[in-house]
Formats: sequence, C-alpha cells, structure tokens
Amino acid sequence: MTKHISPVVPMSSPDISEEDREAVNSVIHTTYLSMGPWIDRFENAIRAVTMRKHAIAVNSGTAGLHLAIRAVGIQRGDIVITTPFSFVASTNAILFENALPVFVDVDPVTGNLDVEQLKMAVNDLLAGGERARKWLPRKLPRYFDDAGSEIFPRLKALLPVDVFGQPADMDTVMSVAREYNLPVIEDSCEALGAMYKNIPAGKQGDIGIFAFYPNKQITTGEGGMIVTDNDDYAACMQALRNQGRAPGDNWLQHTLLGYNYRLDEMSAALGASQVKRLESLLAARQNVADLYTRHLANIPGIEPLTVVPSTTRMSWFVYVVRVSQGVDRMKVADRLAAKGVPVRPYFLPIHLQPYMVERFGYRPGDYPITEDLGDRGLALPFSGVMRADQVEMVCEALRESL
Ligand SMILES: *Cc1c(COP(=O)(O)O)cnc(C)c1O
Repeated sequence: MTKHISPVVPMSSPDISEEDREAVNSVIHTTYLSMGPWIDRFENAIRAVTMRKHAIAVNSGTAGLHLAIRAVGIQRGDIVITTPFSFVASTNAILFENALPVFVDVDPVTGNLDVEQLKMAVNDLLAGGERARKWLPRKLPRYFDDAGSEIFPRLKALLPVDVFGQPADMDTVMSVAREYNLPVIEDSCEALGAMYKNIPAGKQGDIGIFAFYPNKQITTGEGGMIVTDNDDYAACMQALRNQGRAPGDNWLQHTLLGYNYRLDEMSAALGASQVKRLESLLAARQNVADLYTRHLANIPGIEPLTVVPSTTRMSWFVYVVRVSQGVDRMKVADRLAAKGVPVRPYFLPIHLQPYMVERFGYRPGDYPITEDLGDRGLALPFSGVMRADQVEMVCEALRESL
C-alpha cells in the first residue's frame, strides 16, 4: 500500500506575479466582468504570439476543441484521425458530435502521431472496404441520418496533438491533409510557444487550440484559445461560443445552436498579463527541464524525453521520463510517494479508458507503442518555479527508488 504523506514538492505550480494579481484585481473594480476589454487584449496577444489572423478566447481547451470540430463541419458518423497518446479531451471533442475517432499509433521517440502510419491510414480509409476496415475499431457503432438511413463512416479531418510541448510532424501532416483536402485541427493545448522548424505551434493547421489550466505554460485558472486564419471558421466559432448569436443578433436572438463557452474578464486579465511574460515563463521551464536532464543522465533505468531537431523550441509542459524496459514503474512510484515525491503515470492510453473500451471494444495490444509509452512514462514534479534543490531532491529520491 502507498503511504499517504504530504508531498515535499508539488506536482505543478502556476507562476503568478504581483502584476498578474493586479490585472485581475482591476477587473473586480469595474462593471465589465464578462465580454469586456480584457478579452480583446488577451486575444490580440495570442494572435501576435502565434502569428494568426484570429484568436477566440473560450473557457477551456476542451471547449476550444469542440468548437473547432463544429466549425469544420464534423457530424455524426464522420471519421477524424487522431492519437490515442493524449489527454482525453482531444478524442472527446470528436465524440461530442457523435463522430468516430480513428486512432493511429505514435512515434516511439516523440509520442506524437506516427506520420508513416497516418499516410497509410488516410489512403486506406479513403479507399474503403477491407482496407479501411483494419483501421476501424472492432466494435463499430452504427450511424444513421435524420431520415433513418445508415451512414457509412467517411474520413473528414485530422486531429494531431503536440504532446508534452513538442510539436507533431506538421509538415507531413499538412502535406497529407492538403493532398486529400482534409481540414487539420492542431491540439496545441500542451505547446503554447513551441516552435516547429521556427513556426509556432498552432500556426500550421486550419485551426489550433491552446489551454490555460493551472499546470499549463500560462494559466487563466480555466480557459482556452482557438486560433485560425479562416474568416468563416472564426465567425462560426465566435457565434457558437456565445450561445449561437450570429453577427447582428441581439441578446435574445440565436441563429445557431450554440454554447456558453465564453471566457470571463478576470480570467482574460490573468491571461493577458501572463502572456506578456511568456518568454520568461518558458525560459524558467527550460531551466528546470535542463537541470532535470543533467541530473538524470547519471541515473540508470531512466530515459529522458528526446527533443527532435524539428522542434526548434520545446515548450516544456510536463517533464516525463520513461523507466527502462523491465523496471516496475508502479513500485518506483510507490517508493517515491513514500518519500513525499508525487509522480503520475503519463498518459493512460485513451483507447483503454473504460468508456472507450465499452463503446468501441478496444483491447490491450491494439496500439502497442502508445501502450508501451503509457506503461513506462512517469511525470515528475515540474513547474517554472521549482528550485534547483527541489529538482536535486526529486532526482536523488528517484535514484534511491530505482
Ligand atoms: C490540457 C489539454 C487539453 C484541454 O484541457 P482543458 O482542461 O479543457 O483546458 C486538451 N488537450 C490536451 C492534449 C491537453 O493537454
């Protein structure tokens, strides 16, 4: 049994400055607690960081993903190819619209979509028949249109994820997508500020999404941001986040079935203040990651994450190590917990989450690379405000636990 002792170092901490607090406080003294000036400021700042035409603030990354799925027109029975090695929201947004997520396994080095398999999957799914069948879940739901006729799932979009703050191989993703005219939604919720061949994460796809939960690179408490250069998508998502009010609608007119996915002004003020410090926040995280990498180099049984050459800037979201083959990860995690060092298995594969197994009949072995990374990944305590002595303490505890 794990002994529950209070952690000597937190799993993650936000980095909040006096100026951030003042920005939030200033909002409370006005009458604009929602739909005020801070939303524009925050959106403009993210537009600049990502070099995008439109930025649309929402109240979570998940809400952003959902609006992106709606904007590109994903409907019941449509297939979206995505990765099983991610936080569940990237797949859930597809399921919200009763569409069919189809998984492609990941690259063992980065944990991002394996683009060779992606190319095969796209070709096979578009060819249909037996070739398509092998990419589909063994338990395939049946889909019917409003008139009751059966719909046969068709490939409509790609949804890569920039896992741990390292961008997916977007050149290949985009070339496959352009060849077959498939929209790309880039889940960059873990990668604000990352660069792929000097292009910002979230810039290359038709739509990019960021998230601002307290463990992310910048935080608004809860919050998210969608970026795009496409005017039609932007107008659609602006309407949908605001209860379906189209341009020209008044408060009680709703052209579309929408949601309340708006970000409030206190959160937007915190975001606008945080994003001004993005460079220093990322640099602080890079320093902590470098410290870890240096200390862990001398510890056998642990493999740090590889940053590949196409990642011209890593935006460290979490610091995940892999225990070597044959090391009992849960035993290591228990020993660390007993020393007050919290660690998390990272990620539990999406296809093996109970609701996915129930709906689609997935089994262990279906996506072996994802499962291997999931079995061996341990997220260590990590944030930009971690001190050098805390990093050393975690590494020492890790050495002893192995
Ligand atoms: C954090 C995250 C999200 C969005 O999370 P919210 O909690 O809804 O803001 C989406 N996808 C990935 C990969 C994430 O890490």
